[in-house]
Amino acid sequence: VERTLAIIKPDATEKEEEIKDIVLRSGFTILQRRKVHLTPEQASEFYAEHYGKLFFPSLIAYMSSGPIVAVALSKDKAISHWRQLLGPTSTFKARDTNPDSLRAIYGTDDQRNALHGSDSYSNAEREIRFFFPDSVVE
Ligand code: ATP
Repeated sequence: VERTLAIIKPDATEKEEEIKDIVLRSGFTILQRRKVHLTPEQASEFYAEHYGKLFFPSLIAYMSSGPIVAVALSKDKAISHWRQLLGPTSTFKARDTNPDSLRAIYGTDDQRNALHGSDSYSNAEREIRFFFPDSVVE
């Protein structure tokens, strides 16, 4: 089994219970969960790889605009399976190409896309440590 980090972003935290049902029905195990309101500094640290991009300032404003829910998930091939369930980055593209995906259902626009998923093994481990610094590495 593999671990990944999911985030329910500020525009979707009201749908947490609904999203949790889909997560469990899709075969993921919820290892840890934490609700947190990031400061702009913390959001910038989390998204450091996007620093300098045009959308960076508004991404930081969005991600620090309200509480988020960080969830560590596990499953066989969790990283790719979770991103598949999320659908494309843009909510609009998700609605066009994968209407059953979580972003198609819960997203708002290109930026406010409801959910995050780690994109690689090393990012998953870094992101899990970011939100759950005390978690035991197996
Ligand atoms: P995430 O990392 O949140 O799972 P992702 O890997 O699909 O999403 P990235 O390219 O890593 O997408 O971008 C990180 C986040 O920045 C996106 O989820 C979205 O909220 C925002 N974003 C990405 N591209 C754009 C864009 N062109 N315009 C506005 N916001 C964007």
